[in-house]
Amino acid sequence: RLELDQVAVGYEGREVAGEVTLAVEPGQIACLLGPSGSGKTTVLRAIAGFEPLLRGRILGDGELLSGQGRQVPPERRGIGLVFQDFALLPHLSCRDNVGFGLFALPRAQRRQRVDELLEVVGLTAHAGRYPHELSGGMQQRVALARALAPQPRLLLLDEPFSSLDPDLREKLSLDVRLILKQQGSTALLVTHSQAEAFAMADQVGVLSGGRLRQWASAYELYHRPASREVAQFIGEKI
Ligand code: ATP
Repeated sequence: RLELDQVAVGYEGREVAGEVTLAVEPGQIACLLGPSGSGKTTVLRAIAGFEPLLRGRILGDGELLSGQGRQVPPERRGIGLVFQDFALLPHLSCRDNVGFGLFALPRAQRRQRVDELLEVVGLTAHAGRYPHELSGGMQQRVALARALAPQPRLLLLDEPFSSLDPDLREKLSLDVRLILKQQGSTALLVTHSQAEAFAMADQVGVLSGGRLRQWASAYELYHRPASREVAQFIGEKI
């Protein structure tokens, strides 16, 4: 379970997002939706442990991760990440990038898991290629497979389908949703696509101007928007 309690975060003391309170229950897929510059990535970076909080606290499964003078380093949070820079290891093939976090598994199991995920993201035929030999969309798919591979307790995804064409985007978002549900992972996804948020998420948060305007199911958000602003944001994207 991921909890944000009155979180404020920013850069060099300038607040970018504030009063963000939300909880993602185990096995749920949640989505932060909002216009460009609304603070979505910044909130995700704070959860990952890259940004200290100005106020409030973040808890993972009841453990204090950020706030009240505590800052658990990113690598100790048990969180899987897909950020917009992909951060693939340039000297490793697709296959080895996807298998990178699986060193604890026996070789045969590791291979099976990597093969499954390469298949899901449609890169089986390119398994031996290196990142510089791949398109941006392919690199994004490798990053996605790599983050899913170790079945992290929490997965943070920042615009994970942004470099893909619309058909692939739709297919992959549904496939990824299925995998997350099968393995019971908790996930928080950032997007500015309303369609993607509604297709994937159990809970949706609308962020604008650094404030969480509503946190609700897609159904509720659509039928009972909390404000005219939310209604407009939801409405205009249809
Ligand atoms: P997008 O959809 O365009 O990615 P976003 O909702 O994710 O936008 P953020 O990237 O969180 O928004 O940015 C929120 C605000 O914080 C913006 O005003 C941005 O200029 C500022 N900002 C982001 N990163 C930094 C940084 N490293 N240093 C200073 N300011 C930053």
